[in-house]
Amino acid sequence: MNNNKAIVVFSGGQDSTTCLFWALKQFNEVEVVTFDYNQRHQEEIKVAQEIADELGVKQTIMDMSLLNQLAPNALTRNDIAVTEGEDGELPSTFVPGRNLLFLSFATIYASQVGAKHIVTGVCETDFSGYPDCRDVFIKSLNVTLNLSMDTQFVIHTPLMWLDKAETWALADQLNAFEFVRDKTLTCYEGIRGSGCGECPACKLRQNGLDRFLEK
Ligand SMILES: [Zn+2]
Repeated sequence: MNNNKAIVVFSGGQDSTTCLFWALKQFNEVEVVTFDYNQRHQEEIKVAQEIADELGVKQTIMDMSLLNQLAPNALTRNDIAVTEGEDGELPSTFVPGRNLLFLSFATIYASQVGAKHIVTGVCETDFSGYPDCRDVFIKSLNVTLNLSMDTQFVIHTPLMWLDKAETWALADQLNAFEFVRDKTLTCYEGIRGSGCGECPACKLRQNGLDRFLEK
């Protein structure tokens, strides 16, 4: 297994693009995997492909359309509205077990291509109540995956304890601030860069950007 090869779970959004730049600095060899689960906007796949191309990184797109069959939600279905989830309720964008599945498939892929490292942009700080974004879950899954394949994979979560302003600061440190600001897609309406400005993802992103720029 190659100790200097990493697989980045990559959606073309702000967080995973920042992780990709981070990985390109840390590891000699980097590939990305992108999951196609009939996202509300196929634009997301297109953006991810363009970014991978531009950075000269090999991309593997995995068909995860079964996720929509298992758990229809606001990310995959146009007839379900995006809601923020109040009073302890999960947002309508929650897909149960998504990171469990994505990280498991990414690690199986890593085992096939001989990569020791897996990088994901999950974050506990702004975790919106998603249980599978918590650090304890990632550590537990890392142990389980290693036991399942009798290997010593390392799951890296460079954004785990950063807030959105600190994630922008990290992109800036990696000389990727403008790239991430202009080329990534975070918006639930499928608009790149600063997005629609109205949806929960845009508001969170803009709020973090404003706080970063104030410093
Ligand atoms: Zn938006």
